[in-house]
Amino acid sequence: MENKVVLITGSSQGIGRAIALKFASLKAKVALNDIFSQEENLKKVKEEIEKMGAQAKYYLADVSNFEEVKKMIEEIQKDFGRLDVLVNNAGICADRTLAKMTREEWQKVIDVDLTGVFNCTKLALPLIIANQGKIINISSLVGQRGNFGQTNYAAAKAGVIGFTKALAKEVGRFGVTVNAVAPGFIETRLTEKLPPEVIETVKKFTPLGRFGKPEEVAHLVAFLASEEANFITGTVINIDGGLPL
Ligand code: NAD
Repeated sequence: MENKVVLITGSSQGIGRAIALKFASLKAKVALNDIFSQEENLKKVKEEIEKMGAQAKYYLADVSNFEEVKKMIEEIQKDFGRLDVLVNNAGICADRTLAKMTREEWQKVIDVDLTGVFNCTKLALPLIIANQGKIINISSLVGQRGNFGQTNYAAAKAGVIGFTKALAKEVGRFGVTVNAVAPGFIETRLTEKLPPEVIETVKKFTPLGRFGKPEEVAHLVAFLASEEANFITGTVINIDGGLPL
């Protein structure tokens, strides 16, 4: 990945941070992103990367805001002169049964988890095409199997899979690959809020008997971003310890 430039959205913590550190370990130049309130965490990730001897810059932008994303991509082009890999990782959830879900809870999750992918990909695409680059979208097992209290999140993450497959058909002729990664339950702040009984049940039904680690998702993303994965496109790779669909 030496001299390649990689943008990872939502990379101040969790899976995004692990992906950023993985690319830094491969000597890529890392463009970090997150929302304004995460600036302190972004600074820490940037410093961690610099200690590893790699280069990083961070960009504060809400992926659901087209204008902010536009500015971010322009700045990346100015700072690094290119973009090779886009990892659409930023995501939120706002769980509630549909009967109780507000329109705001529905819209916010769709805006960040699905429209955010549209905004970043649409605006980064010319740069990615210029380098025959790669796009990796972080979907979720929930986008394939559904989950109680997550109609908004499941719809957004299923949307990301459809988006991935459609775009792969459009940009294959430019040598660009587009894939989705569907994690099961991974140890991050997103899952630490789960009730202990849910955590136990998930572990019980997971053949590997545990949650995944952010670093394990990062290894898969790095593989999909590498030249070794040049013939893989339009697909979804599950990483879930064997939790059944
Ligand atoms: P996390 O909450 O630790 O990290 C998500 C990051 O996205 C945070 O830093 C957050 O500030 C950022 N973010 C939120 N809204 C944003 C916005 N509008 N613009 C830019 N950044 C924004 O969660 P995580 O578990 O690391 O999740 C990363 C991705 O993996 C998400 O897309 C999530 O849906 C997906 N995922 C996670 C799990 C899991 O078990 N943890 C499972 C499947 C999929």
